Amino acid sequence: MPVRDMVMWNLMIKGCSDYGDLDMGLKLFDAMPGRNVISWTTLVNGFLRVGRVELAEKLFREMPVKDIAAWNSMIHGYFSNGRVEDGMRLFEEMPCVNVISWTSVISGLDQHGRSDKALFLFREMMDSGVRPTANTFSCVVTACANAFDLCFGGQIHGHVFKLGFGSDVYVTASLITFYANCKQMDDSCRVFYEKLHINVVVWTALLTGYSLNCQHQIVLKVFGDMLKMKVLPNQSSFTSALNSCSELEASDQGKEIHAMAIVLGLVTDAFVGNSLVVLYSKCGNVCTGLSIFKDIRKKNLVSWNTSIVGCAQHGCGMGALTLFSGMLRSGVDPDNITVTGLLSACSHSGMLEKGRNLYKYFFQYRSTEIKLEHYACMVDILGRSGKLEEAEDLINNMKIKPNLSIWLSLLNGCRMHSNLEVAEKTAEKIFNLDPLCSAAYILLSNLYAFAGRWSDVARVRGNMKRLGIVKQTGSSWITLKGLKHTFLSGDRSHPLCKKIYQKLEWLGEKLKESGYVPDQRFALHDVEEEQKEAMLSYHSERLAIGFALISTVEGTTITVMKNLRVCGDCHSAIKLISKIVEREIVLRDSTRFHHFKDGVCSCGDYW
Ligand code: ZN
Ligand code: ZN
Repeated sequence: MPVRDMVMWNLMIKGCSDYGDLDMGLKLFDAMPGRNVISWTTLVNGFLRVGRVELAEKLFREMPVKDIAAWNSMIHGYFSNGRVEDGMRLFEEMPCVNVISWTSVISGLDQHGRSDKALFLFREMMDSGVRPTANTFSCVVTACANAFDLCFGGQIHGHVFKLGFGSDVYVTASLITFYANCKQMDDSCRVFYEKLHINVVVWTALLTGYSLNCQHQIVLKVFGDMLKMKVLPNQSSFTSALNSCSELEASDQGKEIHAMAIVLGLVTDAFVGNSLVVLYSKCGNVCTGLSIFKDIRKKNLVSWNTSIVGCAQHGCGMGALTLFSGMLRSGVDPDNITVTGLLSACSHSGMLEKGRNLYKYFFQYRSTEIKLEHYACMVDILGRSGKLEEAEDLINNMKIKPNLSIWLSLLNGCRMHSNLEVAEKTAEKIFNLDPLCSAAYILLSNLYAFAGRWSDVARVRGNMKRLGIVKQTGSSWITLKGLKHTFLSGDRSHPLCKKIYQKLEWLGEKLKESGYVPDQRFALHDVEEEQKEAMLSYHSERLAIGFALISTVEGTTITVMKNLRVCGDCHSAIKLISKIVEREIVLRDSTRFHHFKDGVCSCGDYW
C-alpha cells in the first residue's frame, strides 16, 4: 500500500486478533508510526480473548489515554477469564462508568456464582440513575434465576414491562428461564404466550424450563408445536427434546428427532451427539450410540463419559477400555465419572485383572481421589469374581466409612457364589446401618433358599414380616409406538391378557421340549409358598416378553425394562426363549442391560 492511514493499521491489528495471531498483531502495533486508543484497545481485547491476561494488563497500564470502551474491555476480560476480584477492583477505580460497565460487572459476578452480589449492584446502578438496556435486564433476570430470587425477579419483570423491553427476545427468554428455575411454570408459560414468538431462543427457553421441571411429556409437545410454527430448532432445543425422550424411554420419538437433527446437520455437534448417545444406550441400542459418538466433531469430556458408561451398562467391557485409551490419546482428562464407568464396565464384564490394574492406575499411579462409588465398583468386581475375602479386606481398609451400597455389593457377591459365611457377617453390618434394608433381607433369604436351609429362610421372612418390611413389587414395561405397557407378576389386567397367557403357555411347552426345568428356588424371591412353578412362568418380564411377541414384527429386537434384578430362573428361561423365537431380547434390570441372543446372554450369567 502506498499510503497507510491509522484506520488501515487498526484494521490489520483487528484482523490478527480475530484470527488469533496476537504475535503478528503485536509486531504490527510496534511498527505503527502513531497509535490511537482504538489500536491499543483492539490489541488488549485480542490478548484477553485468548486468555493472555498478564500481557493485556501490561498494555492496558501503558495506554497513554484510556476511554470508557478501553476500561470496559478490560473489565469484561477480567470476568471472562475468571479474575473476579481484579474485575471488581478495576470497576471501582474507573473514573466514569456507563451502562455497559455496570452490565459487564453484573453478568460477570452472576456467571461466577455471585448472583446475590450482582443483584445488589443492580440496585446500586438503578439508584445512581443509569438507565438499563435490554442486555442489562437479560443479565439481571438471569441473576435472579440463579439466585432463585422470585420476589426480586418479579419486580424486575415489572420494570421490563414499564420500560418497554417486553418484546426483546433475550429478555423474554431469560424471564421464561427465571420462572422455570423458580418452579413457576405457569408464569413461565404466561410470559411465553403473551406474544406469538417465532424466535428459536424463546422457544428453547420454554423447552429447557419444562425439562428442568421434569415435565418431559410437555417438552415433546412444545417441541412439536415449535416445528408446526416452522421455527427451526437449534442445538439446545434438540438437547432438551432428546433428554426428555431418554427420560421417557421414548425411543421411537427419539429416532424421529434424530432424523431431524441429521437433516439440519446437527448430529456431529457435541451437545446433540451426547444426548443421542445417552438416548440410544438407555433404550438398549448401544451400537447406534457408539456410531453417533464416533461422528461427534469436537468430543468433550461428557461425550467420552456417556459412551464409556453406555458400554459399561451393556457389558462391553473391552469397548469401554478401548474408548478410554482413545480418550487419553486425544488429551481429555478423565474425571470421577470416567473412573466409575470404567470400573463398572470391568465388573459387568467380569474382568478381574483389568479392574485391579485400573484401580492401581488411578489411585496409586495417578493419585485420583477415591470416592465411595469407586470402592463400591471394586467390591463388585471382586465379589463377582468370587474374591469375597479380598473384597472384605478392601472394605475393612477403606479410607472413608463404607456405606450401605458397598456392603450390599459384597452381599450380592456372596449370593452369586453362595458364600453363606461372608454373607451372614455382611448382613449383620448392613442391619447395623439400616435395620429395615429390604434388599439385604431378600438377598439373605435367597442365599438360605439356595443352600436348602429352609428354617433360616422362614426365620428371615418372619423377621421381615415382624418389622413390616414390604418387598418392592417387580414390574416390567415395554414401550410400543410411544405407549408404555406395564406388567406386574401374575398380572391379568392387560387388555390382551388372554393372548399373552396363551403365548406364554405355548412357550412353556417349547421350553420343556428343550429340556428346561423351572428352578423352584427363585420362586421365593417374589411369591408366597403355593403355585411356585406357575408363578415363576408369569414373572413380570415374561409377561412383557409375551406381549411383545404377539405385538411386534417377527425378527425385530424386543426391549424390556424391569425395576428389580432379573431372577435366575427367568434369566435361564429368557436365554432359551431368545433361541426358540429367534429374536434378540434386550432386558434392562435394576443393575444393567442383558442382551439375550441364540440362547446366551451378554452378561455371561453373572449379574
Ligand atoms: Zn423371574
Ligand atoms: Zn444376563
